[in-house]
Amino acid sequence: MCGVFGIRSVDRDVARLTYFALFALQHRGQESAGIAVSEGGRLTVLRDMGLVAQVFNEQQLQALPGEVAIGHTRYSTTGGAHWSNAQPLVHHGRSRTIALGHNGNLTNAGALREELIADGIRLGSTSDTEVIAALIARDPAPLPDAVAATMARLEGAYSVVALVDDTLVAFRDRHGIRPLTLGHLGGDMVVASESCAFDLIGATVDRDVRPGEVLWFDGAGMHSTQALPEGRGAACIFEHVYFARPDSRLDGSEVYSSRVRMGRQLAVEAPAVADLVMSIPDSGTPAAIGFARASGIPYEEGLIKNRYVGRTFIQPDQELRRQGIKLKFNPLDEIAGQRVVVVDDSIVRGNTMQQLVTMLFEAGATEVHVRISSPPVVSPCFYGIDMADEDELAAAHRSVEEMRERIGATSLHYLSLEGMQTATRLPENSVCRACFTRDYPAAVPSSADKMRFETAVV
Ligand code: SF4
Repeated sequence: MCGVFGIRSVDRDVARLTYFALFALQHRGQESAGIAVSEGGRLTVLRDMGLVAQVFNEQQLQALPGEVAIGHTRYSTTGGAHWSNAQPLVHHGRSRTIALGHNGNLTNAGALREELIADGIRLGSTSDTEVIAALIARDPAPLPDAVAATMARLEGAYSVVALVDDTLVAFRDRHGIRPLTLGHLGGDMVVASESCAFDLIGATVDRDVRPGEVLWFDGAGMHSTQALPEGRGAACIFEHVYFARPDSRLDGSEVYSSRVRMGRQLAVEAPAVADLVMSIPDSGTPAAIGFARASGIPYEEGLIKNRYVGRTFIQPDQELRRQGIKLKFNPLDEIAGQRVVVVDDSIVRGNTMQQLVTMLFEAGATEVHVRISSPPVVSPCFYGIDMADEDELAAAHRSVEEMRERIGATSLHYLSLEGMQTATRLPENSVCRACFTRDYPAAVPSSADKMRFETAVV
């Protein structure tokens, strides 16, 4: 998962606006952050490991003047978590220099890397993102044509912002798997992974970037072309379940409302006799509120979250994740002697839920009824979410009863596929649900190992 942002404005502080937009997109990636600006075609990039607030300071922002800026927050899905893979990446090609930020995951990056290397092109990173940059930078055609030709070669998921000279470019894969939204700030155009970035800087949402569409913004304004015919719509439904911020609007509807509806539906499908409904904060909270409203059981806080620790799901390795859980939650005395319904958005590896259920019993809960506002995750994501390999997915080869035993809950129920779909109010043929169904809408790679290019830097 990553967050991207882009702006072109001749009279605003584009680096500062990008910095604040990245703050709003911090939840999409916490490994590294970066901003690239162009001033009269002169490119400057600042990127580093860490959170947005750690990477930039006032002095650095003041040293980033320009009229075009792109920004990126990264969580790695191909290539390790190190500086050379931080974005925006810059690639100096035969035809142009480009800075580029990518959210998604290419499923044919291996073949494209081999082709570029065979052509004598040096790749300085191990991420799939540089493949996109290198293809565009090699192509002698005018920029929009080079982007369109590159898109025709790419398979998988990509929502991209790029900067060439004084032109901002944004494009999205033919299925629209990862989000990308277009908006305006006064007379200036902005693009972002999620609309919450617009809210923070005072911009207004216009529309989603269409699947297969290229937008470019130069001195003459905004231009658009449908570079690829729109494929089967496959917007990631997990964005609605968990990834996106609840105050973002995706595909025309607020994420928070979808999550409340998921919780309501869960209460209808899997009621429980209990004294209180609580969430695993913060991701399970809207669904817990929905469950409480539909069931009539009062909603209470049962766990206090330390908000200064990163999201456990998004930490890069298993050991950090384990430590993260202990650092992150503390139960309240409120739950002692109570029968509790605990609502969360999903169970991926199951370690977090197992430890939380134990924690709640130790705090005195007499019954712990776990309710999950999505179906069991049974298959990995190849489109930009580093959730786990199939053998790490707790529900991939277990029944619901086996899962209940594993986490130690009094009862366990998941929301049905139909219930989740209905709650999003999106048609079934417009979304990807592959991690729940194993029905992948686009090609999947031969290897899902995100470190597969780590020894191949040339
Ligand atoms: S496989 Fe799951 S997480 Fe990946 S894009 Fe599809 S719905 Fe989203």
